[in-house]
Amino acid sequence: MFFKDIEGKHQLKTVLIKSVDTGRIPHAQLFLSREGAGGLPVALALASYIMCENRLPNDSCGTCSHCRKSHKYIHPDIHYSFPVVRQGDKKRESTTSDDFLPKWRTILDQNPFMGKSDWFDFINEHNSTPNINTKECVDIMHKLNMKAYESDKKILIMWLPEYLGNEGNRLLKLIEEPTDNTFIILVSENQEQILQTILSRCQLIKIPPFTNADIVNYLGNNMNISSEKAEQIAHLADGNLNLAMAISNNQQADYSHLIISWLRVAYKSDPLEINQWIKEVDGLNKEEQKSFLEYGLHFFRQFNFRLLTHSDNIHLTQSEKEVAKNMEKVIDINKAEVICMIINELVEYIPRNINLKIALYADTLKIGKILKNQIPVT
Ligand SMILES: [Zn+2]
Repeated sequence: MFFKDIEGKHQLKTVLIKSVDTGRIPHAQLFLSREGAGGLPVALALASYIMCENRLPNDSCGTCSHCRKSHKYIHPDIHYSFPVVRQGDKKRESTTSDDFLPKWRTILDQNPFMGKSDWFDFINEHNSTPNINTKECVDIMHKLNMKAYESDKKILIMWLPEYLGNEGNRLLKLIEEPTDNTFIILVSENQEQILQTILSRCQLIKIPPFTNADIVNYLGNNMNISSEKAEQIAHLADGNLNLAMAISNNQQADYSHLIISWLRVAYKSDPLEINQWIKEVDGLNKEEQKSFLEYGLHFFRQFNFRLLTHSDNIHLTQSEKEVAKNMEKVIDINKAEVICMIINELVEYIPRNINLKIALYADTLKIGKILKNQIPVT
């Protein structure tokens, strides 16, 4: 991973690069980053930069012997730790991140901006709860106490230390008294779930979310998406590049027609038409269904914001604004809020494998009643 492959974040990159250039890398750093904000890619780029023996002014060179390994995530002195589950027939207590390294490299090659659910879906054949276990901590201490193999430095990148639980205490000594030239980078999405004892011993670095402009640039440069479309996706993604890519991969961020037809069939409440509409949603894959419902949430939230502020300064495209304007005649804030709650519940159904068709049918009838004032909403 290069710093140049991470859009924006200039101030953060400057601070990190300077810490390496001046030989003042903190022994233990905690990167605090929302999902999709790039915490892990920044840690990967920093690790490559630290190891590189032919540094460019603002990035690793990509060609020295260290870069050739670090960029493929196979450098023997860069260790990775992350939540895993049991693998195959192996007992969970004897399984560690090392068992998952091939998968780790594969997913990082595909998408270093991944969210934890992407990773868990990728490895979780048993549907068990991922964590970072005792053996992992013991192994980490062993690895970091050994001599480095090819570099004079050792790095540990631990992704999601919140999955350590109380095992974190085992790493305290390591974080408190690191061996020479050993750098620990923890990348967390949830500060509150990390032991205070660990937090207090790490240099805390907050990774800002991507700006809309960063996301527009990324989608334009890497996914060939027009700037108008990319802006629409960026608004939806709210700083989460991983989500922005997922929406782009589903091709359509514009589910407005599906929302409008939903409201229309709900209002008419004709069973045949409802079923026809549900068929259309059922034809989408799970990710697309989620994107559609998330789009619905976004749309109604913006719709409400418009009602509250009486302003057109909202995150909707021109054609969506027209739709919103027409909807004001039949939907007020209270109704829109109840519809938001209904959609929110539907979003939560998707990973739980609840029959979405049945839920959609019932909810469509309910929305119909709300629109026709047959259910009080205040
Ligand atoms: Zn290099």
